[in-house]
Amino acid sequence: MRFGTEILKQADFLATCSQGSSGITRTYLSDAHRQAGDYLLGLMREAGMQAGYDALGNVVGRYPGLEADSPVIVTGSHQDSVVDAGRYDGLFGILSPIACIKDLHRRGVRLRHGIEVIGFGDEEGVRFEVTMIGSAALTGSFDVNWLDRCDDAGITMRRALENFGGNADAWQSVRRDPGRIACFIESHIEQGPVLLSENLPVGVVTAIAGVSRLRASVVGLAGHAGTVPMANRRDALAAAAEMVLAIERLAQSDPSPVVATVGKISVAGGGAINVIPGRVEFTVDLRSPDDAIRRTAEAALTNACNAIAAQRKVVLEWQRFFDLNAAPCDPYLQEQLASAIGEHGVKVRRLPSGAGHDAMKFAGFTPMAMLFVRCGNGGISHNPLEIMTAEDAEVATSVLLRFLEDFEPKSPHAA
Ligand SMILES: [Zn+2]
Repeated sequence: MRFGTEILKQADFLATCSQGSSGITRTYLSDAHRQAGDYLLGLMREAGMQAGYDALGNVVGRYPGLEADSPVIVTGSHQDSVVDAGRYDGLFGILSPIACIKDLHRRGVRLRHGIEVIGFGDEEGVRFEVTMIGSAALTGSFDVNWLDRCDDAGITMRRALENFGGNADAWQSVRRDPGRIACFIESHIEQGPVLLSENLPVGVVTAIAGVSRLRASVVGLAGHAGTVPMANRRDALAAAAEMVLAIERLAQSDPSPVVATVGKISVAGGGAINVIPGRVEFTVDLRSPDDAIRRTAEAALTNACNAIAAQRKVVLEWQRFFDLNAAPCDPYLQEQLASAIGEHGVKVRRLPSGAGHDAMKFAGFTPMAMLFVRCGNGGISHNPLEIMTAEDAEVATSVLLRFLEDFEPKSPHAA
């Protein structure tokens, strides 16, 4: 095997770069970040790249192209993890392109375009509760106020950067000129069961889903659990329960690609066994790769809940606290990925990504594409039970290498 076995071994080592005593947890600017970053820099140099940290602790490797003036292909993913994570989420998208470049270097091949591999310091947002810090900085949406955010120990991002050896004041130096980038491509484990259930090693991502997050507040009337007759009640929790089921039913019966989740629900004050709940809050997370579909679904589910509230004589208030548009992958790049997959004798499967990824930040900045790799074990991710096989890592890396070798920038005159 050219790539797969070695990549899995590298991922095994990186799994030991963790700040917990067990499991894998690697947050932005931690010692584990440093350990993983240094290891990745070593791999990059061994693969013939110039490599170092940028001012914000992103790992950056460069493999020059034949034409110094040609825009570069940027590829990569995140080095950080959630708490108690799997070992391939993020890291595969850094290790796989390094393996491609190592192969090119060994064969003495230089491509027309230079290639940059980036290991983003933060994507998951665990430490400072703001996500995709690395890719935001590269694409110009870094917010200088983030530097004053504190982690749980009261350490600001600015201070953490200092400790890491970064340079908070130079955050603007991380920003790239989109005119110097030909495209961004990210390889990533699917984190879901679609490729697994269809027995396919890789797939082409069509779009990264947009997200609406809503908070619903249901106000009924608290009362004595023993004395208020059932017919007279305005039970906020019973109403909320009916709403949760209505939301699930709507998303289930919607023929368009949409998913909805009520992930949090709470009775004010924690509730009591002998009190009719008077006030309940719950959250809704709604996603679709198509923003128009998401808006329609959002209207449908809020209407359905409003009807339940009216019927149960409770007051329902909505607050939309997060709204992120979908990021469509570039159709021209999707075609190039599809033909690289086809050349490996694999059926081309196109699928949306329900999870957010660094690639989102590049949408609208430069043409962007994503390659998904099958996730084993029922599609489980953000969990130590996340699995990728050496065979799938092999196919995905061969496909990425073919994509890099065959890459043709879109002619400015093409549609
Ligand atoms: Zn990820």
